[in-house]
Amino acid sequence: QKEESTADLKHNQGFKGHDMLAPFTAGWQSADLHPLVIEKSEGCYVYDINGKKYLDALAGLWCTALGGNEPRLVAAATEQLNKLPFYHSFWNRTTKPSLDLAKELLESFTARKMAKAFFVNSGSEANDTQVKLVWYYNNALGRPNKKKFIARAKSYHGSTLIAASLSGLPALHQKFDLPAPFVLHTDCPHYWRFHLPGETEEEFSTRLATNLENLIQKEGPETIAAFIAEPVMGAGGVIPPPATYFEKIQAVVNKYDILFIADEVICAFGRLGTMYGCDKYNIKPDLVSVAKALSSAYMPIGAVLVSAEVSEVISSQSNELGVFSHGFTYSGHPVSCAVAIEALKIYKERNIVEKVNSISPKFQDGVKAFSDSPIIGEIRGTGLILGTEFTDNKSPNDPFPAGWGVGAYFGAQCEKHGMLVRVSGDNIMMSPPFIISPKEVDELISIYGKALKATE
Ligand code: PLP
Repeated sequence: QKEESTADLKHNQGFKGHDMLAPFTAGWQSADLHPLVIEKSEGCYVYDINGKKYLDALAGLWCTALGGNEPRLVAAATEQLNKLPFYHSFWNRTTKPSLDLAKELLESFTARKMAKAFFVNSGSEANDTQVKLVWYYNNALGRPNKKKFIARAKSYHGSTLIAASLSGLPALHQKFDLPAPFVLHTDCPHYWRFHLPGETEEEFSTRLATNLENLIQKEGPETIAAFIAEPVMGAGGVIPPPATYFEKIQAVVNKYDILFIADEVICAFGRLGTMYGCDKYNIKPDLVSVAKALSSAYMPIGAVLVSAEVSEVISSQSNELGVFSHGFTYSGHPVSCAVAIEALKIYKERNIVEKVNSISPKFQDGVKAFSDSPIIGEIRGTGLILGTEFTDNKSPNDPFPAGWGVGAYFGAQCEKHGMLVRVSGDNIMMSPPFIISPKEVDELISIYGKALKATE
């Protein structure tokens, strides 16, 4: 255990015991420590209020895909603010940016033809909306018992009541009386951690698909409405799927007339080196959730994409069932939509998917070169997303004792050397902006190496 701990990172910025009840922040952190206060951003860097510069290796919260000062996004927001800062999209009234964004967004998704976009303000709202859409759909089809959802252990789908229920992380459930009873969880597809001795990735995937099918049969297929999955799990520790996983899971889901929801909140718009995670893993979803990079996080916005089959049922039945009474004041906020339209335009014009593909080998190989470290169990990722899991003896079965805080120490060392990563227990996560340059990747690898050396 190190003498220097995360408690040494007091930041000293004069906000000890501040007035915020901060999200995902332990009481001791907000009461005893000065928070890190970020004031300014520039490309892949952010600056704190003392002027210290950090490479933002998480792109905010996996979201500032175009970095911190893209003038075209600022101009799009300013222009829309000057013209029409707000009008809603309820009761058949709407705004031009909402209509234009819906069209662009639907065209950008090609894994399967999607027919409608429903706008929300966040990933959590997108996934809450999914549940209501699916319930409405099954009510419209006269299947009132087909209401349960299957999600996966270690998934993250957000923190509102329903999104937290879908998530498979115990911290989101404990002390909140969650998950809700209509949510079931199946296996986390983490091969390194959960495969049996001698089991290949393909065999592991087959076993997980069989387990899913057994769960469906045990519950009764007539009660299972939908399955939800992130193409690559993010907050659970960056877990790309094992070989053949999604084709086997999709076959089971299709067999029992269960809707497939792809939670693309992190993966969409290029992060994995494809426009969507569904493209990478050949997933044919019925519903898709997006947020984050949709506007490169310059304005809050998310969306649900709905297949023609599902939207037709909803539209055709709405005379009988009544209006689809769901939505938010800021659904399709014109300023957010204007920014998102511009972000999609930039992704297209700058061939952002190719850009990610050209830089990601340097990022992946450079960080994975540290895999031999005695304190690293696994480094995993694809495209511009990477997770590092620290374990003793390089074994998934030998976690470091909780009090050691190896992950927190590594994160603190990164911060000390001028880089921000995400820490979750002994998992470290990185997802830099899509615009990261080769020189910045070198810097990222160099700081990672220094932090690792200090932690070993
Ligand atoms: N879904 C996934 C896959 C996410 O990673 C997140 C956030 O990290 C969410 C949903 C929730 O998004 P938000 O924080 O915008 O509500």
